Amino acid sequence: MLSFPINYEQPVYRPPSEARSLLVQVTIGCSNNKCTYCDMYRSKSYRVRPIKDIKKDLFRLSQSGMSPEKIFLCDGDALGASMEILEETLLAIKEYFPERRRVGIYATAENILEKSESDLKRLNELGLGIAYLGLESGDDKVLHMIVKGNTALEMKEASLKIKRCGFKLSTIVMLGVGGQKYTDQHITKTSKMISDTCPQYLSFLTTFSVPGTPYHTMVERGLISPLTSKMLFREMHDILEGAHFDLNPVIFRANHVSNQYPLGGTLPRDKEKILETLRFWIKETPEGTYPPRPPQM
Ligand code: SF4
Repeated sequence: MLSFPINYEQPVYRPPSEARSLLVQVTIGCSNNKCTYCDMYRSKSYRVRPIKDIKKDLFRLSQSGMSPEKIFLCDGDALGASMEILEETLLAIKEYFPERRRVGIYATAENILEKSESDLKRLNELGLGIAYLGLESGDDKVLHMIVKGNTALEMKEASLKIKRCGFKLSTIVMLGVGGQKYTDQHITKTSKMISDTCPQYLSFLTTFSVPGTPYHTMVERGLISPLTSKMLFREMHDILEGAHFDLNPVIFRANHVSNQYPLGGTLPRDKEKILETLRFWIKETPEGTYPPRPPQM
């Protein structure tokens, strides 16, 4: 049996839409690693991999005959690596995988704001085409509570900057992340943020309290009251209803394993249809029921 040509430092994560992409680890872990609900990289110490190791991986992968359409740079916020590392990585990708159509990356607002516009444009010219930004919420109080590490204003500036530099922006929102106490402000401010930044891709995930995280401890102590299914559908409905999609069409997806039912479409074209579906789910869902915890969480 043929073995995979490289070894990843586990665990490795990527966005759902990069399921078929070739994954390349540029950094290990996450430079923030503090978000209270997230346990993805708690077992890893953040570091940028030496360029020789990244290139060795790319060479081995290319020698195995793979011809991926898309490549995704891991781990949690690989855009935090230096320009030198990112440029050399992208040049090596160009050399070894001339057929690839797109290279994607996870980014924090901090990663984007730290780099100059000319540097980001240079990375875009070298093929880095899409950045996935975990916005989670447009509300400062919620961002502070979950220790996201950036303010709403920074999220907005970073979103507009990365779009200006030629990237496609994929924004991730977490439903229920503020609990019942902050649901109203989470809705209003997140709607506004989406209207102001109009990412080309928008996805909604559902917040679950994962054992071992500070978020879980807060839920256990009664400091955060998780949203019921009905409340989660209402959050999704009200965020989308309040948002405008004036700058460009937005491909919307709520089909992550954490979402109770899959939903998607192109906004604003499908907005009314999506809202109708959500109104139906709100009406049909009994009070007091909670979404089933996905097996992977
Ligand atoms: S920035 Fe992302 S990967 Fe890092 S701790 Fe927060 S949610 Fe997790």
